[in-house]
Amino acid sequence: MYINIHTHKVDERDDVKCIVNLPSDVKEIPDEGRFSVGVHPWDVDHLVHAKLSDICRLLQERNVVAIGEIGLDQLSENGYEHQEAVFETQIKMANLLQKPIIIHCVKASNEIVRYKGMMSVPAVIHGFRGKPQLADQLCRAGYFISFGNKFNEESLIQTPTNRLFLETDDDEEADIKEIYERVAALRNCSVEELKNEIEKNFESIMG
Ligand SMILES: [Zn+2]
Repeated sequence: MYINIHTHKVDERDDVKCIVNLPSDVKEIPDEGRFSVGVHPWDVDHLVHAKLSDICRLLQERNVVAIGEIGLDQLSENGYEHQEAVFETQIKMANLLQKPIIIHCVKASNEIVRYKGMMSVPAVIHGFRGKPQLADQLCRAGYFISFGNKFNEESLIQTPTNRLFLETDDDEEADIKEIYERVAALRNCSVEELKNEIEKNFESIMG
């Protein structure tokens, strides 16, 4: 099975399992599939309280398997202080409902490392493109790291197998199977091995 830990579109192939991220203002969850919901840092605006209460309700649904993407983005125009409060609220929701967290982090790695202490559930840094030193710091803090279509090769190679995920995110060109092939070649293993290891990681975060 190919695991796509973070995407914005449904993949109906039988050998692909994905977590489809729904928009921050989602009102209802589709019947079929696995989803993540959460208030993205870009969507922290004057409607955020209404969004958070919807997210809290939707998170309790069976096929909402994770909260996300949530996090911090220093390049976003939204007030950064406000982002932190919204992030903290959603970490508490995740802890309460024991669902893993999918994190969006831009230029806020030190803060994200610090927040790990507040989480009692597994958390994945999605779309990681940073340098090896940062990858190492995040792994040590206890995070899983997910790589998409574009990444730093050294970071990918040094990430321990038991901390690794792959994803397509919103990249229309990306195919999860093709990403597995590229990553297996770089890490010097077979696609089968990679699939098995990542599936184990998936099972571990899904509890
Ligand atoms: Zn995304």
